Amino acid sequence: MNERIEIAQPLFDDREEQAVLAVLRSGWVSQGPKVAEFEQVFAGYVGAQHAVATTSCTTALHMCLLAAGVGSGDEVIVPSLSFIATANVVAHCGATPVFVDVDPLTCTIDPSCIAAAITDRTKAVIPVHQMGLPADLDQIAALARGHGLALIEDAACAIGSAYKGRRIGGHGNPACFSFHPRKIITTGEGGMITTNDPELAAKLRRMRQHGMSVSDLQRHGAGKVIIERYPEIGYNYRMTDLQAAVGIVQMQKLPFILSRRAGIAAAYTKAFERVPSVRAPFVPSYASHSFQSYCLELLPDAPVSRDTLLQVLLDNGISSRRGIMAIHAEACYQASGASSLPVTERLSRNSLLLPIHPSLSDAGISRIVDVMQGCLC
Ligand SMILES: *Cc1c(COP(=O)(O)O)cnc(C)c1O
Repeated sequence: MNERIEIAQPLFDDREEQAVLAVLRSGWVSQGPKVAEFEQVFAGYVGAQHAVATTSCTTALHMCLLAAGVGSGDEVIVPSLSFIATANVVAHCGATPVFVDVDPLTCTIDPSCIAAAITDRTKAVIPVHQMGLPADLDQIAALARGHGLALIEDAACAIGSAYKGRRIGGHGNPACFSFHPRKIITTGEGGMITTNDPELAAKLRRMRQHGMSVSDLQRHGAGKVIIERYPEIGYNYRMTDLQAAVGIVQMQKLPFILSRRAGIAAAYTKAFERVPSVRAPFVPSYASHSFQSYCLELLPDAPVSRDTLLQVLLDNGISSRRGIMAIHAEACYQASGASSLPVTERLSRNSLLLPIHPSLSDAGISRIVDVMQGCLC
């Protein structure tokens, strides 16, 4: 029996184990020196002035929306073709997500759909760099500027991706990253916000620790007693130093992880380009793709259904997943009254994600390609 191939798999070894052990032995396990170091490494990598660690990309997005003043009665434009967290964070603020369609080739938010959805109540727009492919930031930024909207990037999957030669996170808008195990690098759970705005960074640092005016790190290092204040209501969105220590090691592996992902994606695309019933991912010339996921769209003439294909893969010991969901079709957003979003609905119905992670071997790739071609050709 062939070994089972997972859809995703973190790349851990004794370096992460040693890093966690060192933190345990240091006695400082939450939002201390390792979190500060991880933030510095991350900001330097993406080319941002500031990076603020959080418990997840979801809590990162939530804080960015709150910091932009999003609240009850406001509308925030989001792509429906995304993980549901992209919309949930808008609801967490008491605001309304307004779902729009995506570009059929890039699967990222369609700027012309943003323009059509703007109303007097629109406060912000959240483009998603879906599966690691950057949305068309320049076009979206021009729209946001023209209408006075906050632009917050959902960069959950886009660590290491670039737009027009500059890494995601370095474009000046607040950008939110995820360290969930399905993403490019992982800390178990975790998130990061990057920004070039020092006031926003300071505000986010207060918000993530209960609105406290000084950090534990500042208090710990001070020679004089500091009494903290609570000028605003905050949250507990603190990352632990155990997670940050893992994140620092993962950052060292990032170049290898990205190049291995790119290699796997290239092998898949070479194999599937010649199969007429599927469409391989499109990478526009403006983008460098992290390939957090590798998505194939089944075309109408495909000889098998998407769900049958998922089952055949599973029967062969290969774990795959349906493509990106359509949030507006889920029961919890039925009341949003979203009209039909044809591209989103089609992509969500007809696409699937193939295994992609740095431990996937060339033999594993061949096995996957063979099973797929057996069904499709
Ligand atoms: C994974 C993901 C999130 C949520 O990230 P968490 O760190 O799990 O909160 C948000 N948006 C997108 C597009 C994602 O893929």
